[in-house]
Amino acid sequence: MADVVLNGVGKIYPDGTRAVDSLDLAVAHGEFLVLVGPSGCGKTTALRMVAGLEDISEGTIRIGERVVNRVPSRDRDVAMVFQSYALYPHLNVRDNIGFGLRLRKLPKPEIRKRVEQAARTLGLEEHLGRKPRQLSGGQRQRVAMGRAIVREPQAFLMDEPLSNLDAKLRVQMRAQIARLTRELGVTTLYVTHDQVEAMTLGDRVAVMRKGILQQVAPPQELYDRPVNLFVAGFIGSPAMNLFSGELDRAPDGKGEAAGEGAGTGGGITVRLGDQTLAVPPELLAERPALRAYVGRSVVVGIRPEDLFDAAEDDAPAPDGMLLRAETDLVESMGSEVHVHVRLAAPPAVTADVQELAEDVGAEDQVPDPGTAHSELVARFGPRTR
Ligand code: ATP
Repeated sequence: MADVVLNGVGKIYPDGTRAVDSLDLAVAHGEFLVLVGPSGCGKTTALRMVAGLEDISEGTIRIGERVVNRVPSRDRDVAMVFQSYALYPHLNVRDNIGFGLRLRKLPKPEIRKRVEQAARTLGLEEHLGRKPRQLSGGQRQRVAMGRAIVREPQAFLMDEPLSNLDAKLRVQMRAQIARLTRELGVTTLYVTHDQVEAMTLGDRVAVMRKGILQQVAPPQELYDRPVNLFVAGFIGSPAMNLFSGELDRAPDGKGEAAGEGAGTGGGITVRLGDQTLAVPPELLAERPALRAYVGRSVVVGIRPEDLFDAAEDDAPAPDGMLLRAETDLVESMGSEVHVHVRLAAPPAVTADVQELAEDVGAEDQVPDPGTAHSELVARFGPRTR
């Protein structure tokens, strides 16, 4: 096992497309790092440069002690798992898994031992004699994983390995990859456009956009403290509600809970259309720099699970934390319900109407679309509830 370090890595394709721009990224020894971002953001290019399947235009890539910029792919000692699995159709499972070891001319008993061990780990023992066409998608995917495991490489590089599977299988295989990589403690760089995969698999997640790295952080930190609007909107499903507003100084005593924020210069409110929301004192204490934005336009982000129907909510709403809204659309997922609402506004400003989604527990009564959805409570606090 080794660490994988990218320093100022860039890729400009011959047609002038800059796919990756000054990428600095370090995957620690034994770490599972997920590279995530929308289609075309450069994540596959980045992975292929680490694998040696794509030349790099700028920077350095180091695997373990070695700078590999000029090392051919086959000598980098990394194993790649592709979206397409890239199995040999004429070879059975045993020979597909052992293929790399035969190329390296390992002794036959050693190959047999490693292949059988991998097949046991992946639940493929009964299928060793089958050809890829006789296998299901999930089984093929496991053969591709097996082929990577037996090589005992310095690092795994995985490019959307689950995207060809149906939703149910994808969840199963995701858990299997998590278990397997944890067991093996193998350094893994994993590319996906699926933020749920990224959040559930990654020790850390690196978010890319248009070739540029936006943020690298453990999943929860990414969720709680996105560094910019792109990360805020990309991570989380349903997505964070983002509103344009303006910060104001609160009228005396408003927006400041007793004892908190005392001596910090009073509360702050945020104007959203014709409605006003208090900036929670805890947030202000945590981010005193917000005061500098009084009188300026801001974007307010509220996660759907932090908005509650005031009528259903047991605790009284904190001061200044109510929003008037109307139900627009209700989507039931079985275990949760997403309610899209519009912030209520006089007709004159309906152009400013915002949409938001509210998570309601399954046991809660589902509101009818079209009915006035009176008030929403916005609750701010640590995400431990
Ligand atoms: P996806 O999730 O769709 O696979 P990605 O994030 O992996 O996307 P890349 O495949 O790395 O993105 O592509 C990054 C950018 O580089 C895109 O704009 C793409 O069109 C461009 N690109 C990729 N391969 C080439 C190539 N061989 N020649 C020119 N441009 C390319």
